[in-house]
Amino acid sequence: MEEEKKTRYMTQAINDEILGKLSLKNRYSFLNTNLMTVLNPKEFNFLKSVQKYCMRFEKKNNVTHGPDEDVYDWIPAFGAEGFLTRAHPFEMIDINYPEHGATIEFMRNLAVNFFDPQFSLASGATVLAVNPLHEHHENVPIRLEVLKKFVTGETPGAILITEPERGSDAVHMLTTCDEQSDGSYILNGEKIFNTNAPKARYVVAYATAEQNNGNTMAQFLIDTKWEGWNCERVFIPYIPKVFLGKERFDNLRVPKEYVLGAVGKGREHLFEGLVPERIGIAIDCISSSWNAVSHASIYVNNRKQFDQMVLKFQGVGFLLTDLWARLTNVTLGLLMFCKSYDEKVEKFGGSLPHNISQAMVASASQFKYHAAKLAAEIGYECANLMGGAGLCDNTLMQDILNMSRIAEIVGGSRQIQTYILSMALRQLYKMAGI
Ligand SMILES: Cc1cc2nc3c(=O)[nH]c(=O)nc-3n(C[C@H](O)[C@H](O)[C@H](O)COP(=O)(O)OP(=O)(O)OC[C@H]3O[C@@H](n4cnc5c(N)ncnc54)[C@H](O)[C@@H]3O)c2cc1C
Repeated sequence: MEEEKKTRYMTQAINDEILGKLSLKNRYSFLNTNLMTVLNPKEFNFLKSVQKYCMRFEKKNNVTHGPDEDVYDWIPAFGAEGFLTRAHPFEMIDINYPEHGATIEFMRNLAVNFFDPQFSLASGATVLAVNPLHEHHENVPIRLEVLKKFVTGETPGAILITEPERGSDAVHMLTTCDEQSDGSYILNGEKIFNTNAPKARYVVAYATAEQNNGNTMAQFLIDTKWEGWNCERVFIPYIPKVFLGKERFDNLRVPKEYVLGAVGKGREHLFEGLVPERIGIAIDCISSSWNAVSHASIYVNNRKQFDQMVLKFQGVGFLLTDLWARLTNVTLGLLMFCKSYDEKVEKFGGSLPHNISQAMVASASQFKYHAAKLAAEIGYECANLMGGAGLCDNTLMQDILNMSRIAEIVGGSRQIQTYILSMALRQLYKMAGI
């Protein structure tokens, strides 16, 4: 046993007793005790079923979360179990998840993030390619086939929006698409920072008929085995297990049935995906923050200095309780948003009308902005409360802390969220008729 630990981690800093107490089972118990008065039985039971699966999976596969593990290896098993995405029931591909929607996604994400934060990011990013196929499959067989492969974990998927010269300014794209007489398109250009792209068999990408003209954007499904697809890995040191891509399209031909949105439809499709994407990031940030608070709470209730558990020192206790209180409050707010989102989706028969989705843009930005900022603070402060043990790699704290460093950039930076919110505030002010 000792032998095994030494190969998976550097020298163990934390004592055996406390390391044992930080187990996945105990962190889940801490989380569940916090949430049991808030969740309804359906949500709580689903949360517990994913937790049970993660605990069994960890044990059965001897998962150590050490540096040598490939989180992509776990995707097929989670997909087969139906734990990669619960955003929709997916009846069009004969899946029919009884528990689905934003609130259930929140539950799924809480369980999976506690199990392994980098796995949560890599497996979760596929949903960004799932949503466009879900909305725009039009019963075309290849689209349904790919959708099923994503949902069941046969292959990861990726979304390709960002370009080397167009990050925040995503609608002024440089990657071009030229329509051919047979309805196919030829794509040329470069993309970057696309989570999972080097591992994905299929991706969803945007391009434009006229450079810098957002009105001529289009959306495509791409098979990464096609000629003209070139992809190299962008290594992000904060998330060493997640593969991001930098791609070059060299006269990449996209057949007609793979065109999800023709020229003129791309921008609308892009914006339609932003509300679920930002809420998804907010959910992951909140899950990660609970993971951090669970680690820190267990640690400070066990670690002794000056002959006392460190929780009892005000500097420790008051800092942790401040983080805990704020996290609880944002969790309640996000849950309320998810429930209201689910109610609207149900009311409108499975997907949100454009105007309702637009009305939720500001809330999605508010949650993404707030949750990412909170996660950055909680990730850092919880590691800090664990002293040296929070800084070495014997626990998941380093993964949590590192991931909290990317949260404010992915899905639109902090400044872009506040920029969107400034415009929304102006619109709201006008609507108020003051
Ligand atoms: C880990 C990771 C995963 C990612 N995954 C994906 C993915 O799956 N698919 C994908 O397409 N992209 C992905 N991205 C790209 C991400 O969305 C972009 O990095 C992000 O939108 C910022 O773009 P940029 O890096 O070009 O920065 P820039 O846009 O160059 O921004 C530089 C700085 O300027 C600020 N800034 C820019 N414009 C404004 C403005 N108008 N007002 C105020 N401040 C401004 C920004 O906030 C930032 O601080 C990912 C990025 C990372 C790091």
